[in-house]
Amino acid sequence: MKAAVFAGPGKLELRDIDKPVAGEGEIVLKVGANTVCGTDGRILRGEKSKGIDVGVVLGHEIAGYVSEVGAGVEGFEVGDLVGVLPTVPCLACFYCVRGSEHLCTDSKIFGYRINGGLAEYVLIPREAMERGGVYRAAPHLTPAEVALAEPLGCVLNGAENYRTEVGDTVLIQGAGPIGLLHAQVNRLLGAEKVIVSDPSESRRAVAESMGATHTVNPLEQDLTEFVQGLTEGRGADVVIICIGRGELVNQALQAARKGGRVNAFAGFSKDALAEIDPNLVHYGELIVTGASNAGRASHEKALQLIGAGLIDVKSLHTHTYSLDDVVAGIEFAQSGEGIKVAIIPD
Ligand SMILES: [Zn+2]
Ligand SMILES: [Zn+2]
Repeated sequence: MKAAVFAGPGKLELRDIDKPVAGEGEIVLKVGANTVCGTDGRILRGEKSKGIDVGVVLGHEIAGYVSEVGAGVEGFEVGDLVGVLPTVPCLACFYCVRGSEHLCTDSKIFGYRINGGLAEYVLIPREAMERGGVYRAAPHLTPAEVALAEPLGCVLNGAENYRTEVGDTVLIQGAGPIGLLHAQVNRLLGAEKVIVSDPSESRRAVAESMGATHTVNPLEQDLTEFVQGLTEGRGADVVIICIGRGELVNQALQAARKGGRVNAFAGFSKDALAEIDPNLVHYGELIVTGASNAGRASHEKALQLIGAGLIDVKSLHTHTYSLDDVVAGIEFAQSGEGIKVAIIPD
């Protein structure tokens, strides 16, 4: 079968490899879609190679149809549409034992250590099956919608940290796929005002169609003034940084009200530093949190919300590439045009 193999830093090769076979306790999926995320671009540009085994098949936003069921597997049948939590937690480390399996220090991740979804078929190994991060999705969904449960699960995990309350004003920096998911989730959580800040006019328009009540171009308008103008001078209850650029951090702290919650959701590049005015945290009693990854509960909830039509991920899927064009697809996903690219094998 065809598969996109990580061949060392900055190298992705489309190769012919053996089609996997389901052993005892395992299933094989015929990949329906693997959506591309920013991490894939960082891998392709050689900015990320740590933790990724040379020779692994890339792709961690995976959905597919069961094509083979190994002996002893219950609850899955050939033809089922399945979504996969890419992280297989160890369930034994300090964090797993304390209920934070998304912070597992000994996890195995599809597309990093376990062969991922940028291939015609993907094996779901026994440990992934046993640890329960493999879900049957509502059959009316498209595979791309099911694959997008991965980023949505991460967003839901972030929401547990920033804790939006009914009636809140929320500022989201960045109208990429992640910012658009946060916008929708915050409307569901009862935020009254969801302000999305992004320099791109077309992305701001998409944000308005996906739950943003206000949008702003931060290059043309002072963000803090804009937010204060909507909050009687206080600032936002919650600010979510969805672009990994250091200069946005102080902007986020400035736009938050006293006692507000600021979430560094985006990943920053490896050596990034951010210059901040620490008195904003001190006098403002700000609560600054982060967000990394998702556990099984977040992924399952994401699939539930997508299946129930409460979160629109279908409109996020704007472009499709075949497996033969995987490199072009990942490059296009970094261009800022379109929203989410899905790689769909022929
Ligand atoms: Zn991802
Ligand atoms: Zn663990």
